[in-house]
Amino acid sequence: MPRTIIDCHIHCSESKDDALLSYAIANGLKYNLAELFEMMAQNGVEQGLLLSPPMKNGKPLDNKQIVTMCKKSKDRLFPIITAEPSRTKVERSIELAKAHKGYVKGFKILLGYFPLYPYDRIYKKIYDYAEKENLPVMFHTGDTATSSGSLDHARPLAIDVVANERPNLKVVVCHFGNPWLQDTGEIMYKHPNVYSDISGMFVTGARYSRNYIDFLSRAISEVIYFVGKADKILFGTDYPIERYPDAIDFVRSLKLDERDIENILSKNARGVFDL
Ligand SMILES: [Zn+2]
Repeated sequence: MPRTIIDCHIHCSESKDDALLSYAIANGLKYNLAELFEMMAQNGVEQGLLLSPPMKNGKPLDNKQIVTMCKKSKDRLFPIITAEPSRTKVERSIELAKAHKGYVKGFKILLGYFPLYPYDRIYKKIYDYAEKENLPVMFHTGDTATSSGSLDHARPLAIDVVANERPNLKVVVCHFGNPWLQDTGEIMYKHPNVYSDISGMFVTGARYSRNYIDFLSRAISEVIYFVGKADKILFGTDYPIERYPDAIDFVRSLKLDERDIENILSKNARGVFDL
């Protein structure tokens, strides 16, 4: 299979303390780098972006380990630095991005896991640096992996404030803001520099999974009609949340032109992340 697909949202830690292990087990995945590389090859995935998974203590994996894992990948994986909201963590995230300039492909902000909105001043330096270096900032939006998350802070519409203030900052709304799909459509429609990934939207194996995936496919297609174009939609699995065959089938099920589907799988992310 020719390798052309870009997966813009992958997690991995190879740690037994990884909080995503339960998803991996439910999906029958080993959830390690060797398996990931094998699955990428089998499914025509050329490159991916690696993001810190949450650990069982609630904190994301140290970003340095993400960089180290990417270095083992022979340019198949590139790091996204997760910026936690503290002055020290923000400084460290920027230092790490500077130390690996050109290699680090963006930042991630975890909305919904802290009682902070995306326009909180704590993130200012991240946005300044990202804007200067043309690095996208990815935002976790929508449902939180834990029941203690704050949905109010995870709403994609709050990103409108940041996008208004910073028209040159590339913003990626993760998980299409699910369940706020239409809100995500609106901020993409309104802002030239707001994009969205369709990673981690579903799990398989539950009683109504098939119905739910069919619903999501229709709903996302319709939001894309509202936006008027599909060139801001980015493919992602949120590995180990979705398996590659399921995630790729999902993109192919969208009621869009074939050219748009291919661009979602590949070209759109190349442009946004400079891959
Ligand atoms: Zn994720």
